[in-house]
Amino acid sequence: MDALDIMSDLDHVIPYFQPIFSADEHRIIGYEILGRYQDSEKVISLGPFFRDRSIPDEFRIEVDNVVLKKAMEKALTLDNDVLLFINRSEELLMNDSGEDLLQLLLKYQEKGISLNRIVLEISNEDPHHQIDHLLNYYRTFGIKIAIDKMKNTSSLLDRIGDLKPDIVKVDLVPLRSMNPPQAFHEILYSLSLLARKIGAALLFKNIEMVYQLQFAWKNGGRYYQGYYLEGPSGQFVPRDSLKNKLKTEFHEFIIYEKRKLEAIVTITDEFQSRLQVILNKTRKYNEYEDLLGALAKDLEGIAFRIYICDEDGFQKSPNLIKMEKGWDIQPEYIQKNWSWRPYFLENIVKMRKEKKGILSDLYHDIETGDATRTFSFPLNGYDYLFIDLSYDFLYKHNQLL
Ligand code: CA
Repeated sequence: MDALDIMSDLDHVIPYFQPIFSADEHRIIGYEILGRYQDSEKVISLGPFFRDRSIPDEFRIEVDNVVLKKAMEKALTLDNDVLLFINRSEELLMNDSGEDLLQLLLKYQEKGISLNRIVLEISNEDPHHQIDHLLNYYRTFGIKIAIDKMKNTSSLLDRIGDLKPDIVKVDLVPLRSMNPPQAFHEILYSLSLLARKIGAALLFKNIEMVYQLQFAWKNGGRYYQGYYLEGPSGQFVPRDSLKNKLKTEFHEFIIYEKRKLEAIVTITDEFQSRLQVILNKTRKYNEYEDLLGALAKDLEGIAFRIYICDEDGFQKSPNLIKMEKGWDIQPEYIQKNWSWRPYFLENIVKMRKEKKGILSDLYHDIETGDATRTFSFPLNGYDYLFIDLSYDFLYKHNQLL
């Protein structure tokens, strides 16, 4: 499609609307406005037109504004709490210091679309600093900011830190393959923690299959968008169109997750009793090393590393580590300090108070790189036992993975 054909036929430039659903209400809470061109027989996305930098800025801005005006006219009929997500490139926004867009939106505020219903989606492709001033200026009018497109994660984290957006959009396309890059899960997990810390909501987009919806729900997604729910359309969809379907599906997710969590509690309890039995029969030992030796026999196939720390995190025993030929002793770990590790002191305090062991979350061991969980256990009034579980054991109890 030639850019000039579009420019000379703006009557056929139209807005499309893709619904965005919320996890807390199971209904449509907003629409992303997308540009389309109505050909004689089909509707064409204007995405490539907007991204084509060889097309003069004025053309792209003009088409952007045509789409937006037509969309706002239609949006006048919506409930007055429905959000409107508007795409703007940072580069084009800076062209006139963002005044055009603001004036257009203010005009529609007079007609009834309050500015706090506007979510401006920006991408983090070429962040530069002046844009932050502009976006903060927009915010004084109530406009919300969303960051879309996570191409480069490290710059995304910077952008999120600088901008403190209201919404972060996360693309689930990498999850389309059944074997997404392993780091994808960890990055998303970090992103969900960061979003929570700064008070931003996560919006997962390109949800095309039910397992992606489940993934989004499980990873702290408050908003969802994608063909699995609704594709873009020239018309607005009734807000409750998927209410029952979503309620049923979320119910399944909840049941599944509760089962998994219950299994983890059961395994934690089993560990607790098992250790008590072992410790009762090895009451007499001179050195912690002897105790660990006795434990290792009973934890064959379960643990790959065992050690003891005091409540400040100083290691009081060597590591006992499982090698191919048997257990090895690593005395060089004595007196190392682990209090800097996430949750370490939190868990110590919890164990001391509840006099019970704790099973950690799933993480990757810093030395072996394997997925593991650690079972920690209060040994006496002052020292704590740490058991790193082997991957084979987790695999056999796959709720732990
Ligand atoms: Ca977008």
